[in-house]
Amino acid sequence: MFRKILIANRGEIALRVIWACKELGIKTVAVHSEADSDSLHVRFADESVCIGPSPSHQSYLKIPSIIAAAEISNADAIHPGYGFLSENPEFAEVCRVCNITFIGPPPEIISLMGNKSKAKNVMKEAGVPVLPGSSDPVNDYEEALSLAKEIGFPVILKAAAGGGGKGMRVVYSEKEMEQAFKMAKSEAGASFSDDSIYIEKYLENPRHIEVQILGDKFGNIIHLNERECSIQRRHQKLLEEAPSSALTPLLRKEICETAVKGAKYVGYQNAGTMEFLYEKNKFYFMEMNTRIQVEHPVTENITGIDLIKAQILSAANEKMIYNQDDIKIIGHSIECRINAEDPYRFIPCPGKISTFHIAGGPGVRVDTAAYSGYVVSPYYDSLIAKLIVRAHTRQDCISRMKRALESFIIEGVKTNIPLHLKILETKNFKEGKLTTKFLEEILPQK
Ligand code: ADP
Repeated sequence: MFRKILIANRGEIALRVIWACKELGIKTVAVHSEADSDSLHVRFADESVCIGPSPSHQSYLKIPSIIAAAEISNADAIHPGYGFLSENPEFAEVCRVCNITFIGPPPEIISLMGNKSKAKNVMKEAGVPVLPGSSDPVNDYEEALSLAKEIGFPVILKAAAGGGGKGMRVVYSEKEMEQAFKMAKSEAGASFSDDSIYIEKYLENPRHIEVQILGDKFGNIIHLNERECSIQRRHQKLLEEAPSSALTPLLRKEICETAVKGAKYVGYQNAGTMEFLYEKNKFYFMEMNTRIQVEHPVTENITGIDLIKAQILSAANEKMIYNQDDIKIIGHSIECRINAEDPYRFIPCPGKISTFHIAGGPGVRVDTAAYSGYVVSPYYDSLIAKLIVRAHTRQDCISRMKRALESFIIEGVKTNIPLHLKILETKNFKEGKLTTKFLEEILPQK
């Protein structure tokens, strides 16, 4: 087992990893930028190292500084959290060369799954259903157009190296293609330094359903059931739940077993997520995330498994202690991402939180690194807390989330709590009638 883990991240996920390490008796090293010197992850880690100025590319994304911090502090493993370097194969490779264990899958798998177009091809080979589309990057708009005619409109153009909802363009007709292709390509180049674009059929009313995978280094891979993440704005998740109200037990078994089949095909290790789009009782692989996800707590709530501890144990060469049959679904869980932003215009609203009083009571979990007096920095994302509830039924979960949101006091910055309340009170949400268009449909029309 590791003696000391460095956490290459900040905010709530850095704290979440620290909690798991403390329970496992592992010492922790926090790294932080100049803006984060008063952060809770710095306070609660056993040691901390300042790795540079506030902008991420000069600190949390700077591989040499993070490796130097691990070497100075004698850490034997690095947990990357989510975002930042968590899906960077070069970082995982540098860790390997420096004899520091990267807590995640090997760089080869991160690299393979990081290219969404290649990942789709591999999954197709594995017998996992994928949406019709190009199997290689598309070179120019004429090629995109001829493919689109084959597939049938609407289609979606996506950045092969994409993430965070960037570099995607939906194209409904021939005449939109040229401009959409150019925009998607330039956005992809600017955001990911890789402008390869691929194309696939666009589903108009899908649900986003993803399966949590867990693997050890001995070829054992299980699933921890699914999460529903259809409540999104601009292709980014806002509220997640587990299990999905769309699936019958039979479909659940099918999608989860398909995810395991795909993960086994690539020799997956550690925690990962297979994302699917689901429409008209059919599901299609979309992409795999080779890291822990923001929404992992809802899975922890319904399965009772601590995913961060499981990641650490797997990286430390421990054999999986669970069989697939040990994994049960107990009750229901919902997570609301509480962001510092204007709730209807989605504009980040950084600033000082004057009062911060978290919700509590039965079945409530809050993952956060904020406190009264905390400054939400403009340098990083606007997530200030994840409010997660559990209850026996979905309906009880909704009532519990409502009262938790109502008793969560955050003053000094605007938050999206009013929007979450509105979502929970919407008839279609209560009835579990969700699609990725849900939020668009309930927002006030401009
Ligand atoms: P990212 O990695 O940028 O988050 P994803 O490929 O995971 O991008 O897609 C994010 C979201 O975009 C999905 O949850 C879904 O809402 C939408 N989306 C992606 N591909 C399609 C598609 N083929 N049809 C309909 N919606 C899609």
